[in-house]
Amino acid sequence: MSEDLVATHVLEFPGGYTRTTGPVIGRFLTELRDRRLVGVRTAGGRVLVPPLEYDPDTGEPVTEEYVEVGPAGTVQAWAWVGSPRPGHPLDRPFAWALIRLDGADTALVHALDAGSPKALRPGMRVRPCWRAATTGHITDIECFLPEVTSLVAPVRAEYRVTPGRALTRFLEGVRDGRFVGGRCAECAAVYVPYRESCPACGSVIEEEVEVADTGTVTTFAINNLPDPRAPEVPFVSAYVLLDGADTPMITLIGGVPAHEVRQGMRVRAVWVPPEERTLSMTNVKWFEPTGEPDADLDSTGGAR
Ligand SMILES: [Zn+2]
Repeated sequence: MSEDLVATHVLEFPGGYTRTTGPVIGRFLTELRDRRLVGVRTAGGRVLVPPLEYDPDTGEPVTEEYVEVGPAGTVQAWAWVGSPRPGHPLDRPFAWALIRLDGADTALVHALDAGSPKALRPGMRVRPCWRAATTGHITDIECFLPEVTSLVAPVRAEYRVTPGRALTRFLEGVRDGRFVGGRCAECAAVYVPYRESCPACGSVIEEEVEVADTGTVTTFAINNLPDPRAPEVPFVSAYVLLDGADTPMITLIGGVPAHEVRQGMRVRAVWVPPEERTLSMTNVKWFEPTGEPDADLDSTGGAR
């Protein structure tokens, strides 16, 4: 078996290969050195960027009218470069992008420093990032960068809430390890937390009722963003319809892997020890499964 014959060659012009630009490309590069982007207008009125000497559609010479374009533009297409090579304009992953500068009818290819391929989308707005020293070469633009479309602003508000009479009654109940609701005399609906007027019929609610600390998950969400009120991510927040109530209450679900939580799951409140209780919902650590068979949600009376 014979080996393949291979010869390695290097093609290099020591000192570089000098070519003349011609008037059209020369104008483009001269303007580039002055940090301006120009295109040339064709006889048909289109603006070619980068400029060409002949209209590629008709073969006609272009006009001598140069039009300033950009500097912002719109991404039309791209190819992601996950492993840049020597000679690439950036030493980190980037995209080769087709960018149509504002005012141009054609697109130019340039490097786009978008950080991640997930950040790219057609129509993305970008702007050139110029090198400190320009020489009249396409690399005077180091790359294009996405326009700034978002910022992270620290947000913090401290405020005090004064509970009304109804919420106070509810929180007093929670301090004592029980859930207090109110029953509407007109439509018999039981609202938990306790409230003083019926949202369904408008009646004043005067009857307090205690409901169970067991219930049924009606809807839930698996949360992957940390929250200071939750133990760890992922955590599950859920609406639980307490037994004896007609409205569900939002709470955390714990003591069970997030992916096992389901609609109809039977759960029970886990209370913090009595000596740690305050007038707040932190008295309920979370709800955890009771182990009972799932409830038929249609028979729970439905959430209002
Ligand atoms: Zn009512």
